[in-house]
Amino acid sequence: MSLPSYEALNFIKTPVWLVSSVSEQVIFANLAATALMLNKSLNDMRNGVFSANAQHLLSMYVPDLKSELDIIEVWTVWRDQQETTLSCRLSLAHDENIGDVIIFEGIASQMPTGLKASRSANYQRKKQGFYARFFLTNSAPMLLIDTARDGQIVDANLAALNFYGYTHDAICSKHTWEINTLGRDILPIMNEVARLPGGHKPLNFVHRLADGSTRHVQTYAGPIEIYGDKLMLCIVHDITEQKRLEQELEHAAMRDSMTGLLNRRQFYRITEQTNPSHLPLQDQFSLLLVDTDHFKNINDVFGHLKGDEVLISLSRTLEACSRKDDFVFRWGGEEFVILLPRTQLDIAMQVAETIRAAVARIAIPGLPRFTVSIGVARHNPDESIDELFKRVDDALYRAKNDGRNKVLAA
Ligand code: GH3
Ligand code: MG
Ligand code: MG
Repeated sequence: MSLPSYEALNFIKTPVWLVSSVSEQVIFANLAATALMLNKSLNDMRNGVFSANAQHLLSMYVPDLKSELDIIEVWTVWRDQQETTLSCRLSLAHDENIGDVIIFEGIASQMPTGLKASRSANYQRKKQGFYARFFLTNSAPMLLIDTARDGQIVDANLAALNFYGYTHDAICSKHTWEINTLGRDILPIMNEVARLPGGHKPLNFVHRLADGSTRHVQTYAGPIEIYGDKLMLCIVHDITEQKRLEQELEHAAMRDSMTGLLNRRQFYRITEQTNPSHLPLQDQFSLLLVDTDHFKNINDVFGHLKGDEVLISLSRTLEACSRKDDFVFRWGGEEFVILLPRTQLDIAMQVAETIRAAVARIAIPGLPRFTVSIGVARHNPDESIDELFKRVDDALYRAKNDGRNKVLAA
């Protein structure tokens, strides 16, 4: 698939987005898609008020898409200047240059013909029959919801009562929006899901339990007709532990394992943010390059483990001396970088001086005192990060030559 061939998609009325699964960049959006997007980003659509999905990172869908599993996301889009829902079906294509490309194809919302007047206002669970056996005995928490009555919960199985901590009567007096932390914003999503052909596609939400605590859940919801009542069956899968592991992994990928400081990759991620609204650095920022003095001696005389102890203790001091919005990175070895957003050179010099003095006071039992030298520079408009680093590195070099335990500006 080469880029110009995408243009043909402009002739169809279905909105289509082509997105790189790795960079999450929109490679192409056809005219119908652009009209729904206004000037919003993919992130805005996937994470808007009415959005629901099963994966945070697009690349996580790739294995399932390769196995041709049916995956749906509900997006927040803009129609007539108003936010509304759009279900998208995902599929996978391969582009020679870009790699895996996820195709998001808007699904035309059918009018909810079957859902008009539900008779479930006086819904009674039939105690006998297949439904009762299937529903009651299932070990997965299940809720039966009346979408036509504001998302009223009309039945819940034993597993659901155990999970949420409600009695049957209590849960049946509630609505989906009282359990979902999205509140009433869940209703457009629920109505969208109720119209999906086939139903039962996984989407992630946060649900509140009776004791007030919250759990990350993946729900499989879809329309179901039971004894003539048109309802929605929602199967709930607790993914809290999975979420916690994901967050732990994400944290590990961002941080240096020994000191817990941000790693070098995060420095580039933060400084290369192109979207101005996400850029924490508006205006000018300053940079400190901190290098431990004669660190090799510490290793040589006291051993590598003691050297590690010095680096950890130094890291805590750097964090303690930096301000709330500053970013502290382990640049490598015994070198650290501190990024000071919205900071003029004179203030950056003061922060550096505070750090230098605080480090000189660190006392580790069995070790002599140690010091750091610091180069300081303010980012010049239009200066590349490499050019800035060259300047701050020069300043550090001069601080070292000047006898160490020094702060010098570029
Ligand atoms: P200078 O004052 O000129 O900066 O001298 P220095 O000895 O600090 O600089 P040099 O670059 O010669 O030595 C840095 C040493 O840091 C060498 C390397 O073995 C050590 N080092 C790098 N990473 C680690 C680490 O994670 N743990 C320990 N213990 N040592 C490390
Ligand atoms: Mg060094
Ligand atoms: Mg050093």
